[in-house]
Amino acid sequence: MAVPKRKTTPSKRNMRRSHDALKAVNYQECPNCGELKLPHNLCGGCGHYNGREIQSIEA
Ligand SMILES: [Zn+2]
Repeated sequence: MAVPKRKTTPSKRNMRRSHDALKAVNYQECPNCGELKLPHNLCGGCGHYNGREIQSIEA
């Protein structure tokens, strides 16, 4: 098994981890029912996308 020759310094380790943070998900309101949904995704509340009902939601 390959083994690193040198211990990663705290500086290099932290530089690598500088991109690891999770960004907040940018929800948008559904124009049909007002529920928060992901952009470019079918609304989970009413099943609408782009002003049309794609999937009927059984309540
Ligand atoms: Zn909706």
